[in-house]
Amino acid sequence: MKCRFCGNYLKHQFIDMVSAPPSNSFLTKEQLDKPEVFYPLRLMVCEKCWLVQIDEYKKSEEIFNKDYTYFSSYSKTWLRHAKKYVDMIISRLSLNATSLVMEIASNDGYLLQYFKEKGIPCMGIEPSVSTAQEARKKGIETLEEFFGVGLAEKLSNEGRKPDLIIGNNVLAHVPNINDFVKGLKIILKPGGVITMEFPHLMRLVEGNQFDTIYHEHFSYFSLHTVNRIFSSHDLVIFDVEELPTHGGSLRIYARHVEDNSKPVEQRVAALLEKEKTRGMLAIDYYLGFQHKADKVKYAFLSFLVEQKKRGKKVVAYGAAAKGNTLLNYCGVKKDLIEFVVDASPYKQGKYLPGSHIPVVAEKEIKRTKPDYVLILPWNIKDEIMEQLGYIHEWDGRFVVPIPEIEIS
Ligand SMILES: [Zn+2]
Repeated sequence: MKCRFCGNYLKHQFIDMVSAPPSNSFLTKEQLDKPEVFYPLRLMVCEKCWLVQIDEYKKSEEIFNKDYTYFSSYSKTWLRHAKKYVDMIISRLSLNATSLVMEIASNDGYLLQYFKEKGIPCMGIEPSVSTAQEARKKGIETLEEFFGVGLAEKLSNEGRKPDLIIGNNVLAHVPNINDFVKGLKIILKPGGVITMEFPHLMRLVEGNQFDTIYHEHFSYFSLHTVNRIFSSHDLVIFDVEELPTHGGSLRIYARHVEDNSKPVEQRVAALLEKEKTRGMLAIDYYLGFQHKADKVKYAFLSFLVEQKKRGKKVVAYGAAAKGNTLLNYCGVKKDLIEFVVDASPYKQGKYLPGSHIPVVAEKEIKRTKPDYVLILPWNIKDEIMEQLGYIHEWDGRFVVPIPEIEIS
């Protein structure tokens, strides 16, 4: 297989998680009786551009089908993050009623709704039917399409060139990264700005975040690699921020190479240097990851087996994609975790792919008083611990599996 960005032949493995079902394919009761499809899940690293990438992948059209159940608006932390960003960027770029904001992978309008509130024209691009429909209910124009050169040329020819293009957690999901970034170059207005947020590969490696690996994630980026990709399409990253979201993300700011009105901030060079110092431009950094992930896996399994032997009851909270990766990689089934609670009514009554653990409403925690509640979306653990603080009434405890197992 060749590198998805630079075409170099890939020979180094980053991690082999063997195989897993698509992490957002929650199953109905009827589907439990049918065969389930597992796809290989192995990541490779390119020693020329350091892009960590999935080896085999499904067509994204297959994964983002009409039953896709991830609705951004269900996390309060994420909504707060979105609102804060909107206030900041409106002021930084002086956006107003004559501007155009475009968000790629706009989901259910969780972010664009705040631009709409301020009277700033905006549009979303969202290939998933169910989430796009939710966005339209909020009055947000949403195109049900995948973004790339084709769509960029079409909109550009219609004169719809945005002052601001936003892509939060989409860059990693793009199968053809060159087509996507070239599309950004085509559609961005001269003088316009692109901001993209994506999980920082440095934080993934250093925080043992192997559970953020799933089929929908094609690429895992350092700033170094994203910088190379954007440069090759005549876009310049002129600023970068490190964010706490998703276990540690980067927000990059990019512009046309021809636009000299925005100097490159010192923060860009500083972070590139930090990545180099950590070893991200040498192969050893990547080759040790499997061992780190396996250590977490064995500790987590030991904990679950120990509780089972002691007759303790363990349940989980948060039927998110990362939970499915963790449970499937560790081979956990419902004998070790009785059920998983999720706030989304779209998931309740269904079963997790692979592990077949049932998804139920929060009231089941109050009713069954478990000894341990395992928090799968550890990136929002504070929000969840606050919400479920009542488990301490019966001496219930929280378990967070990543970066290493922690009980509180
Ligand atoms: Zn490469």
